[in-house]
Amino acid sequence: MTATIDLNDGTSIPQLGFGTYLVPPQDTAATVGSALEAGYRHIDTAQMYGNEAEVGQAVADSGLPRQELYLTSKLDNGNHRPDDVRRTFEESLTRLGLERLDLFLIHWPLPTRYDGDYVSTWKAVADLIGEGTLRSAGVSNFEPDHLERIIGETGIVPAVNQIEVHPYFPNERAREASLRHGIAVEAWGPLGQGAVLGDEAVASIAERTGRTPAQVILRWHIQRGDIVFPKSMNRARMEENARIFDFELSPEDVRAINGLDRGPAGRGGPDPNTFD
Ligand code: NAD
Repeated sequence: MTATIDLNDGTSIPQLGFGTYLVPPQDTAATVGSALEAGYRHIDTAQMYGNEAEVGQAVADSGLPRQELYLTSKLDNGNHRPDDVRRTFEESLTRLGLERLDLFLIHWPLPTRYDGDYVSTWKAVADLIGEGTLRSAGVSNFEPDHLERIIGETGIVPAVNQIEVHPYFPNERAREASLRHGIAVEAWGPLGQGAVLGDEAVASIAERTGRTPAQVILRWHIQRGDIVFPKSMNRARMEENARIFDFELSPEDVRAINGLDRGPAGRGGPDPNTFD
């Protein structure tokens, strides 16, 4: 059902996945199980979401071969010290019931906590690859300066940067800096966490193309080449969100959606430069 994107470390990732932020632990096994039944093969979780064990449960229950699945988790903000990176990564693996994780990200750079040292955190995450328990290492919410610093000081380029991207906040500066370094962009909150779904311009494109607003927005991301993992706990919406590879938006429609950019005011989440 999905395309794949080649990463700079020789691996590849399904362009469409399933997000699990705010999926309560007690609902996660059923929700992720439903997503796997609907055809999703890429699941995005995080230590912070408190649902890794239940994601692991869904994976085990699905009976799907491990190599058909792509699983991502992220380092929680309290775990940036290198020893904690190693220890809590192992704990994530145990909770997920995996021998190897596909992708592990630093969730937030936290540029003023830990004496401003997210470089040793990055080195510790990247070093996990050598131990055979991780395929790809990346970052999340890294601004251009943060990327320059970790690459300049370690020489190691992240495979992905997972950042807030949607029509109200296309985040072009962080996107462009990532792509310039050969880092794939993962667009979190691809539907603006729901905010873009009621947009009139999106609605008119949806009506004209016979698609839903969610499909139009997700297709816009796909045509930009970004990786997306929309979240829904509703099976019909999961299926709807996955039916985005059988149509194309015209250049005019893409331009109209590009025009929805609200600048810094469009950002829904915290500013990574000040979030600590
Ligand atoms: P999203 O943009 O995927 O929007 C989710 C909202 O849209 C939910 O309220 C859902 O009910 C609604 N929705 C989904 N499909 C719909 C449809 N077809 N019709 C109508 N409503 C629909 O927001 P998100 O979940 O925050 O982002 C996706 C994923 O990105 C998360 O689940 C998580 O995995 C990841 N994420 C990462 C970070 C980070 O800091 N790295 C931050 C936020 C989210």
